[in-house]
Amino acid sequence: RMERADESYFDSYGHFDIHRTMISDKVRTDAYQQALESNPSLMKGAAVLDVGCGTGILSMFAARGGAAQVTAVEGSERMAEHARSIVAENRLDSASGGPITVVASRMEDVDSLPVPQVDVIVSEWMGYALFFESMLDSVIHARDRWLKPGGAMLPDLASIHIAGAGPGAVDLDFWNDVYGFSYRPVRDLLLEASLKDAHVAPVHPCHVLTAPCCLRSFDLATMSAADTEFSTEFVLEAASSATVAAAECHALVLWFDTEFSARFCREQPLVLSTSPQAQPTHWAQTVLALRHPVTLSATAVQEKGGGEGSAASLRGRVSFGRSDKHRCLDISLECQAFSAQGA
Ligand code: SAH
Repeated sequence: RMERADESYFDSYGHFDIHRTMISDKVRTDAYQQALESNPSLMKGAAVLDVGCGTGILSMFAARGGAAQVTAVEGSERMAEHARSIVAENRLDSASGGPITVVASRMEDVDSLPVPQVDVIVSEWMGYALFFESMLDSVIHARDRWLKPGGAMLPDLASIHIAGAGPGAVDLDFWNDVYGFSYRPVRDLLLEASLKDAHVAPVHPCHVLTAPCCLRSFDLATMSAADTEFSTEFVLEAASSATVAAAECHALVLWFDTEFSARFCREQPLVLSTSPQAQPTHWAQTVLALRHPVTLSATAVQEKGGGEGSAASLRGRVSFGRSDKHRCLDISLECQAFSAQGA
């Protein structure tokens, strides 16, 4: 019954390298550990569902946090098998008197759990630019099928943000001067490619030129899968700081935050941020290159009509949609430069 394309998706999670990358992303894994182990009023005695358990790490945090019953569901049969041995090795399986049961299945195909409904759903479903991989659909499906009314989602909030960034974010200047030679053709080719495909790379905070703008916020307890497709307007103002008096904006950078809010995590609420200003994570940021760079200048606000060729703000529209390509994401961007007085 499983779609052919999903087979290769789950195969990609059948190897340890990808799990090692995720587990050693300390910002990510610490956030989940804290949420699960430092919120006893939520976790003590709870029935928990871990959607996409991988090696079982989140389920084991839940067990350590006091959960009475944890179902760990994993779609990669190979990895589910490994999770089973890891959980047993740590004596957290039911045969050892522990709370964890590993189920090798696509979440959508599970038709019974050890308990009829769970108190908590935990999942690490986030992809690049939040929705790449569309794993959230499976989490929402699980929520609607297995979560008690008023039950907890971990994380429970998510948001997508955008800011303007300098040439360093696109990182093509390398090709301007290669041992004194111009590699312009290579640069042009790569620029064309980055105008078509968003590019995942860490953006250094010093390359961010504007304050961020929040594109969209999501409540995981109530949102639907259709909400991941949206279109929204944004305004980015030139930073007024003296150090960035005039800066060439070459790209827009996207990132997401997720929150384990005080709604469910009363003792220890926390935010897992993938902002360029926060500690780096394996998600890095998502960079959308601009065909025509714009000089952003806060002084364009003071000068009547704006400075020569410079703009005080960028305004535009971003749309997120599902791609025809399996589990991929279409992001489209339109934007215009404005002086203080208008376009
Ligand atoms: N929870 C682990 C792994 C996160 S990666 C950790 O935090 O380290 C996401 C995992 O979810 C992958 O192992 C993937 O195979 C699994 N997964 C994705 N969609 C799924 C679905 N619909 N049903 C079951 N497992 C799924």
